[in-house]
Amino acid sequence: MTDVSITRLSASTADFDVALSKLLAWDDSVDHQVNESVRHILHQVRTRGDEAVLEFTAKFDQVNAGSVSGLEVSRERLQQALETIPAEQKAALETAAKRVRDYHQRQLQSSWQYEEADGTVLGQKVTPLDRAGLYVPGGKAAYPSSVLMNAIPAKVAGVAEVIMVVPTPGGVVNDMVLAAAAIAGVDRVFTIGGAQAVAALAYGTDTIPSVDKIVGPGNIYVATAKREVFGVVGIDMIAGPSEILVICDGETDPDWIAMDLFSQAEHDEQAQSILVSPSADYLDQVEASIRRLLPTMERADIIAASLNSRAALIEVADLSEAAKVSNRIAPEHLELSVADPESLVAEIRHAGAIFLGRYTAEALGDYCAGPNHVLPTSGTARFSSPLGVYDFQKRSSIIGFSAKGASDMGKVASVLARGEGLTAHARSAEYRIEDGAE
Ligand code: NAD
Repeated sequence: MTDVSITRLSASTADFDVALSKLLAWDDSVDHQVNESVRHILHQVRTRGDEAVLEFTAKFDQVNAGSVSGLEVSRERLQQALETIPAEQKAALETAAKRVRDYHQRQLQSSWQYEEADGTVLGQKVTPLDRAGLYVPGGKAAYPSSVLMNAIPAKVAGVAEVIMVVPTPGGVVNDMVLAAAAIAGVDRVFTIGGAQAVAALAYGTDTIPSVDKIVGPGNIYVATAKREVFGVVGIDMIAGPSEILVICDGETDPDWIAMDLFSQAEHDEQAQSILVSPSADYLDQVEASIRRLLPTMERADIIAASLNSRAALIEVADLSEAAKVSNRIAPEHLELSVADPESLVAEIRHAGAIFLGRYTAEALGDYCAGPNHVLPTSGTARFSSPLGVYDFQKRSSIIGFSAKGASDMGKVASVLARGEGLTAHARSAEYRIEDGAE
């Protein structure tokens, strides 16, 4: 029998800040054994390439292939997966992909430049990455939605080659994942995973080309490997446990909110679900719904563990105070389950994604609304944004001086360079000063 006992907090109590900080803390302790084993794997793949990839794939995923080419999934196989999955799944993937593509197309940045009166030109040139690597987790479950959310922005950005890796423990391939790769336009797929896949993408092997950036979620081995190879390649982020914060005015069906909290809690024991409301009575109602609905859930044990350790029901004076609490937390997902979400959203400063109104369940955003479901966690929404097309584009500055501009700015540069004691800089600028003064 799964039982829950959810933390209750009130924003009006003196120790609220301390209690909230305690609630938000999670176990991110570095596991030295994982670190060591990841470093070993990275070193082996970096120095021994394909051979090491094959060994680790046999060891961790129980897949024995004669060569890394044997672990590549052909385009025909991707297409076959798309044609053989149930029609309902194919249609759902295609609808989701279309909406994700349409949304992300609006994020495309373009190059710009402007000209000054003396003919000097300044601007910014935007180019896509040449190659992106996409990690799709495959150890315990399969995530076709992750394929769409990571690959489509890359393709919209114009990345020439998207290389996907996905482990297939015991050789079991998930056709819905392959079908999603076909729909998203992934160029190559290798059935490898863990730190060895991250290493292969970062350093390249004879068979697997190195990429410029690695995106996508994964377990502790994947996250640690991504952190280690950062600098050799770009990475998207290191995600913490998933979170939802719901602000409710007390008028939404409590069962709906209970299920929204479950939808986060079912991810894993460290996931966090928080409800904030000005109505203590409503918090009681949702708690009653949680107790009644929990036994009906397939993942009741995980949900109960997550709710017991990390969930909270928080009473506030009014919706403005709810917004302040939310800004303090900077949640990954924020539902505004209130009568007038548009006016409340004006008070929200930090959140990965904001879901407006009683009908907008986070689950819709997770799969098919269109915006990306890869979002900043653990309060990082204070300074970072959802994964987007801009993560696959980079900018080069453009600077083109006219003779007159070079002369005028040469004088400025010369003064600054001499002030820094950099004579070559100063003389390089001074050569271009029109009156020839040096
Ligand atoms: P995974 O693909 O991340 O990991 C499987 C790989 O881990 C294996 O291929 C193996 O190489 C490696 N591995 C396993 N045991 C190892 C060991 N002892 N030593 C070295 N390597 C080892 O799949 P997973 O394990 O199912 O984890 C998926 C993770 O991704 C979960 O934590 C899940 O919550 C997360 N996830 C997050 C999001 C998101 O959007 N934030 C989405 C989907 C999944």
